[in-house]
Amino acid sequence: DGRRLLGFAGNDYLGLAAHPALREALLDAARRWGVGATAAHLLGGHRAPHAELEAALADWTGREAALLFATGYMANIGVLDALLSRGDICVQDRLNHASLLDGARLCGAVLRRYPHADADAAARRLTLRPGTAALLASDGVFSMDGDVAPLRALAAQARAAQATLLIDDAHGLGVSGPRGAGSVAAAGLDAGDVPVLIGTLGKALGTQGAFVAGPRALIEALAQFARAHVYSTAPPPAVAAATLAALHLARQGEDLRARLAARIAQLRAGAAALGLRLLPSQTPIQPLLLGAARTALAWSHALEQAGLYVPAIRPPTVPVGQARLRIVLSAAHGAEHVARLLDALAALRARADAAADPAIATP
Ligand SMILES: *Cc1c(COP(=O)(O)O)cnc(C)c1O
Repeated sequence: DGRRLLGFAGNDYLGLAAHPALREALLDAARRWGVGATAAHLLGGHRAPHAELEAALADWTGREAALLFATGYMANIGVLDALLSRGDICVQDRLNHASLLDGARLCGAVLRRYPHADADAAARRLTLRPGTAALLASDGVFSMDGDVAPLRALAAQARAAQATLLIDDAHGLGVSGPRGAGSVAAAGLDAGDVPVLIGTLGKALGTQGAFVAGPRALIEALAQFARAHVYSTAPPPAVAAATLAALHLARQGEDLRARLAARIAQLRAGAAALGLRLLPSQTPIQPLLLGAARTALAWSHALEQAGLYVPAIRPPTVPVGQARLRIVLSAAHGAEHVARLLDALAALRARADAAADPAIATP
């Protein structure tokens, strides 16, 4: 409605979405390549910037090869559909992203979900019958909780069960690990441990799209058999060029990651001092658990009145009784921005404590 709000909602963790280098790369490439890719990858839509980006993503993540998809949602649908057939087993964390769950449902695999972050429970569901395949799939960093999957334990269990491990690192890439290579690299795991790595480009890289990285034979097979890749128009070459610029910044972005870490520490210390319950997360996703959906809505509304955009996340996105504010931090935030958020939260906390306003009272 024409008002400017300070945002704590987007997944632009490194502050690259509006970075001058990305704008320039996009404009330059648009002048050269035009806007649309005009066709699917296999029918002439695959241009030099796509090929360059795939090679750079493989190199960054320490994989042999990578394949682009138009979105992360389609990457997960496409990869699961290509790897699993009816009757194969797909074991997933209960809090996995919707696109992983939908991918398993659409391909007709037997979907078995395990309690959040419980690698032993995952192992119990990985029983293989002869002639079937088993795939274990987890988010690297969970999108609504901000916690990191027990990646080393999952890798060990997948190996023991001769199952394939797929990690969707949409929220870890660029943010954690050496040179920002993600939560899998941060856990000390390599391509042998996690043969199928999914990454999205619309979060820390600040652009749009997704990729799967892994052994060359797998990537070549996916290029032929992942229908979401084969039968969909390639993303604009200019977006691939802008993503390449983002990747260079993210790779060398230790200063950005240090800034982000400082904001995370500032928010957590400030919230603790206010007695507010942030979930135990060390990532830029810092959820404030409020319980009832109407409480979360009331807090979000009150913050908006104070000039801050922090959306309420409600069921069915999160379990009933676990509505929350999903506070997301970015290297683009300054200390003064986090201080403004903490001031507004302090005022709300005081109102809730005084019970002057039952709508915002926390349980
Ligand atoms: C955002 C997200 C996706 C979907 O990616 P899009 O490019 O937005 O379609 C997939 N998986 C996870 C874990 C995500 O957080």
